[in-house]
Amino acid sequence: MARIDELKANQPQNAGGSANSDTDATRLRSENARLQEQVRLLMAAESKLYTLQEHLNKQQLLYARLAEVSRVLNTLLSFDEIGSVLVHFAVYEFNFERSLLLLAKEREYRESFSSQTIQFEVVASEGYYDNDEKEHLSQLRLDESDLPLPQSTQDTGSLRVQSDDTDPFADTLRQHFLMNEFFVFQLLRKEEGRSGYFVVGNTREQARYQTRVEQKDSVTVPLTSLAQHASITLANVHSYLALERERARLDQMVAERTRELSEALDAANEAVRLKGEFLAKMSHELRTPLNSIVNVPAALVSDYQEVEVWYCTGCDAEFQSEDDETETPCPECDGRLEQRTVTVCEGDPAEHLRFLKLVKQQGDHLLHLVEDVLDFSRMESGRVSLNYENISVKQLIDDVQQTIRVSIKNEIRLVTYDYPDAEFCFSVDALKIKQVLINLINNSVKFTAHGGKIHVSAAALQENAIDRYVRFEVSDDGIGIAKEQQQIIFESFRQVDGSSTRAHGGAGLGLAISKQLVELHGGRIWVESTPGVGSRFFFEIPVHPAQRFPSSVPPASISSPQKRTPRAEDAACDYSVVVVDNDLAVLAVSRRILELHGCSVVTVSESSQAFDTVLETRPDILILDLHMPGQGGEAVFKQVRAERLLDNTLICLSTADHTEEDAVKALGAVWLPKPWNAQSLCQTLNTHMKQRISASAFESEG
Ligand code: ADP
Repeated sequence: MARIDELKANQPQNAGGSANSDTDATRLRSENARLQEQVRLLMAAESKLYTLQEHLNKQQLLYARLAEVSRVLNTLLSFDEIGSVLVHFAVYEFNFERSLLLLAKEREYRESFSSQTIQFEVVASEGYYDNDEKEHLSQLRLDESDLPLPQSTQDTGSLRVQSDDTDPFADTLRQHFLMNEFFVFQLLRKEEGRSGYFVVGNTREQARYQTRVEQKDSVTVPLTSLAQHASITLANVHSYLALERERARLDQMVAERTRELSEALDAANEAVRLKGEFLAKMSHELRTPLNSIVNVPAALVSDYQEVEVWYCTGCDAEFQSEDDETETPCPECDGRLEQRTVTVCEGDPAEHLRFLKLVKQQGDHLLHLVEDVLDFSRMESGRVSLNYENISVKQLIDDVQQTIRVSIKNEIRLVTYDYPDAEFCFSVDALKIKQVLINLINNSVKFTAHGGKIHVSAAALQENAIDRYVRFEVSDDGIGIAKEQQQIIFESFRQVDGSSTRAHGGAGLGLAISKQLVELHGGRIWVESTPGVGSRFFFEIPVHPAQRFPSSVPPASISSPQKRTPRAEDAACDYSVVVVDNDLAVLAVSRRILELHGCSVVTVSESSQAFDTVLETRPDILILDLHMPGQGGEAVFKQVRAERLLDNTLICLSTADHTEEDAVKALGAVWLPKPWNAQSLCQTLNTHMKQRISASAFESEG
């Protein structure tokens, strides 16, 4: 405007007449018009500039807000919180009516990468106020196939549905999202595909007050950038949660391992405690009988004296004399006298017998303890195998009865037997089943007061058409066992605590051994008991039809009374036996025991002489110590076995090392474990001899 005024002021004052004035006026007008046009253009440009400035200011503000939101998103560690910030921002900052965030379901998200179907559900929404609509969103589950958006990360990864879109796919999405026009931004994770969808838009009714989806670039660019940022944040949260889960899993693993270790430590401590207790108990248990075994012979020995006497070679008379030089002839027959040493007993023979019985009883007890420990150690190392044989219930109980009668004949308790299925035969390791029964009966004897009653029964029972078993029961009216102890007494080294139990001694191994022996047969053992009333111990042995009559043993021999398994007392036999051992005490005791049972015995202490003696005597039985100096038992065994003339000789290898059982059996020899007593020795010999006899009878019949 200033320029127009200036132009007007500079007009010439009537210079040169009217023609000139007309030209000037025209020129001025056109100049004026041009200037006015320029002013208009300038003002329009100024206005545009102002709008642009305003837009730039807005964009700057928006990006500042975006940066702020991104910063907030980075601090969040839960999907719900991220979702609510995102949808809130979309609605209020971009002025849309509604917004939704759908994420892959957590479990599926983790497992989805191997499967094709990921399900998405709504984790946050804004602008939905109607309860039905909220309910609809909470039920909404979409598969990837429901939203087939381009997956390329080059692409914006967004979809725009406008209000006039008539595509059926657009309609389906409208029904899902309850919006008429909207953008869908996919949230991507590198290599793992879509992790979710971010939706913003409007319903038809309100769209005219909102940002329209037609304004594509002005909103898609910042929203895409927001969606990308949200993708990264969500991926971080996923990683964080995965780490958390892993940490929790590791924590749990550590806690479990710690618990297991602590349990193992407790168990180890308990085992150490029990073993310590066991050793203390065993030392007591061993010392008690050893006390008698060591002291009684010492006391008895003092009753004997060795004295020098004169002996008449003519009439066998003996004379005591202080005079070593005597030349006097025998006063009886005038014969020649010789000096000799004789042993004189000054004690009471009845008292000696009582003491000897005591030593025998204590020795048996000691042997029983040692056998328990050895049995247990063999079982611990899995070195026990079963020697099945057919035996009738009757024979089994008869044998047990016989053994028990001998061992408890001084105990005033009534032991009764009842076995209705007496003739029933089954296949078991008879020695081991007898061991279980004897152990249960001995326990009943121990824990039942004098005058008490013990009952032993056996019956063959049928569980169903196929399963048959023999059930044994040993019951007593003794002290009984508390409920909480009824399980643990079957564990090794366990005894019921209490002075009455302690008073009876024992290693606490009998029931553990019994349990293992029964279980080796495929059976089970248990107890029912009431303290103060008594106990009932049961065990069952399954009868396998195929085992009832094994082909190696002729069925006729099973129930035949003449061929029953011999008892210890049946051991009176006329076998000829050669015993080879470098231990002279073993030889002396073996000779005595075997001769007492009717055997003729030759003993050899030098292994080098063993073969010649055996060849000369051709015994029924040869007992060889496995570990002899010089030629060992195994070498002698092989030498004898190689000699056809000695084919009929039963060879037993004897050793105290129970780990050698398998090796001895593998050689084809009979395993005779040390220590043995008269009963176990005779029983072993009889069992094997009878088996040989019946096997050779069977062969010759065949
Ligand atoms: P032990 O050699 O000590 O007898 P066992 O294993 O045979 O070992 O028995 C373990 C414990 O079970 C015994 O010490 C005793 O406490 C208890 N027990 C076994 N049998 C009986 C019974 N018939 N009556 C009462 N208690 C019993």
